[in-house]
Amino acid sequence: MDLKSLIREIPDFPKPGIVFRDITTLLRDPDGLRYTIDFFALQCINNGLNADYIVGMESRGFIFGSPLAYKLGAGFIPARKKGKLPAAVHSVEYDLEYGTDSLEVHQDALPPGSRVLIVDDLIATGGTASATAKLVEKIGCELLGFGFIIELRDLQGRKYLPDVPIISLIEY
Ligand code: IMP
Repeated sequence: MDLKSLIREIPDFPKPGIVFRDITTLLRDPDGLRYTIDFFALQCINNGLNADYIVGMESRGFIFGSPLAYKLGAGFIPARKKGKLPAAVHSVEYDLEYGTDSLEVHQDALPPGSRVLIVDDLIATGGTASATAKLVEKIGCELLGFGFIIELRDLQGRKYLPDVPIISLIEY
């Protein structure tokens, strides 16, 4: 299936000069959504990514990470923006173009030693994924790999990630 044809391109969003890759057009397509999750799961299996837990980043990482966890028989852990999770958290701060942001997971969510796959909709500069990897490794988990629906290759985000398998279904 031509997944690229289901991704809508929005020029100048969120600011002039940026072409935003909009995955809502893929999500609303019943065959496209099913194919994406099935293909994603197959790629994970073929790369030996048999994780105990999938960590997905707020918020589009939740959309793809949860059904993938279901397919792979793993648990799903949301990595949320600062201040959203109710219990005690581990957190990591990372740089944005202007300022910083944080991602947090519950302290009791990931037992040290568990095998983790990090999932998001898209990798651009790699900042978000690399921060999530630091958080997972700080907790003492084994990072098995990363899975993205879309990879913006020109930005070379994968250069900033640890040396583990990185799956992306669509490349620009
Ligand atoms: P990075 O940290 O620069 O790799 O940016 C990746 C994060 O920004 C992910 O959490 C994405 O959801 C979001 N993001 C950046 N660009 C786009 C886009 O064009 N479409 C959808 N999400 C994007």
